[in-house]
Amino acid sequence: MKTLRHPNSGKRQGTVYLVGAGPGRADLITVRGAELLKTADCVIYDKLANPALLKFARKDAETFHVPKRTNADSFTQEKINKLLIEKASAGQIVVRLKGGDPCIFGRAGQEIAALTHAGIDFEIVPGVTAATAAAEYAGIILTDRDYSSQLVLVTGHEAEGKQKSNIDWHLLAKFRGTIVFYMAMENLELIAERLIKNGMEEETPAAVITDATLPRQKVIKTSLRQITKNCKENKIEPPAIVVIGAAADTNAKLNWFMTKPLFGRNIVVTRNAVGNADFANRIICKGGNPIEFTTIKIKPLTQTNKFLQTLAKIAEYDWIIFTSANGVASFFDVLQRLDKDARIFASAKIAAIGSETAAKLSQFGIKADFVPTVFTSKELGKQLISFANLQGKKVLLLRSQLASNELTELLGKAGAKVDDVPVYTVVTVKSDCRWLREKIRNGEIDWLTFTSPSSARAFFEQIPAELVNSGNVRVASIGPVTSEQLKNLGIRVKVQAVEHTIDGLIEVMEKVKGKK
Ligand code: SAH
Repeated sequence: MKTLRHPNSGKRQGTVYLVGAGPGRADLITVRGAELLKTADCVIYDKLANPALLKFARKDAETFHVPKRTNADSFTQEKINKLLIEKASAGQIVVRLKGGDPCIFGRAGQEIAALTHAGIDFEIVPGVTAATAAAEYAGIILTDRDYSSQLVLVTGHEAEGKQKSNIDWHLLAKFRGTIVFYMAMENLELIAERLIKNGMEEETPAAVITDATLPRQKVIKTSLRQITKNCKENKIEPPAIVVIGAAADTNAKLNWFMTKPLFGRNIVVTRNAVGNADFANRIICKGGNPIEFTTIKIKPLTQTNKFLQTLAKIAEYDWIIFTSANGVASFFDVLQRLDKDARIFASAKIAAIGSETAAKLSQFGIKADFVPTVFTSKELGKQLISFANLQGKKVLLLRSQLASNELTELLGKAGAKVDDVPVYTVVTVKSDCRWLREKIRNGEIDWLTFTSPSSARAFFEQIPAELVNSGNVRVASIGPVTSEQLKNLGIRVKVQAVEHTIDGLIEVMEKVKGKK
């Protein structure tokens, strides 16, 4: 992929962009923020900025994680300021990624003062702040024409310095609206006490939201009187937002996020890296927590003589069949490199095994002439035979080297002359998987998902079958061929997708109620 360059890249002096990363979920960053991340030479990110955002960054970008207050040699604000100045002075485009909105309790003021003092250009990119995100992901409406015409954001950290507090507790206790505290967990007891002492009703509704927008989000609905006790009982840890006032008492039915079908489920995805990223996004959209474990890598076989000879006479085929999106991607990748395009197919008809393969083809301007109603090789063969007369017809299979003979035989029996040409193969990727074994053993995983026999084989080369069968985790399979492979590996399959696609797989998991 071509490296994106920032329009100001290469100037003698760089610019620092203070970018709001949003409150947790990676895709809550703004479009402007994501665009800047893509072009930055250097990314300096906070503890609360989701590290998944780094996937937007250039591969060659320098990255610095600068969490404050973790240990003795952790980053101080001064060190961060110095780093910003050093990088920008060296001509770099620096993205300073800060959790939520950069200017809400984000020490942006100090960073900007240091930059202006050093004569460095800066820009601020607003972000979604934790108060609004946490409330909205908990179904709490912070302002309402009936019960809250005012909203105040307060830092709970300040309460420590009793003597010189800037917080007007008297005013807050009388405030007729919604109060949102950031960084309040350490001083929660003190905060509640001060509000009550200054005249706030003990029964005033309160809500605490931790890890907002993430699959591990928790919400405690309570009262000012009970808030500390409830948080202790529920082991509530920072980062958390505290909402005080009538807004905190909203109807539980408005909690659209935590009632999503896969909310809080820890789901391991076991495809190749690209496939995992796509699957993970779809799980996040359903409220689940994807855990990416890459088991395989696609190795194109488009440099082989067999493939190149086939390509040279591809227009002679009557039907060309793709049985996976990976096959389509590998095929068009080489076409592009050879400066060719889809016209190479001439009048050949194209079949796809299922909706995902068809969707991939459509990215290259091809509408599949045939897609079976059930997305397996066997059904593709059976249904294609009744759809078209294949007697004496030339059929080309462009697929994985590891595919079974079933389809070739079916089409052959119908009188077709079949060429089975591999466009890719699958190789196992081994990685340190102790952490995953541990999570499975501890019951921290709800689902293991499998979308192909090869990923199932690769997975169980690394993770013992007994561990998975021991009852702490459920197994979901995309279709019969993958299930068969899993059974051969001695694995009990809990559910199999009805429609053999990623969305079909998600759908069957959604139907299984309760956590493991
Ligand atoms: N600039 C940030 C706030 C930084 S202060 C923003 O605009 O959101 C850090 C505090 O933000 C935390 O102590 C917590 O109160 C809140 N916070 C940040 N992310 C949060 C999250 N995902 N869930 C709940 N609170 C969060």
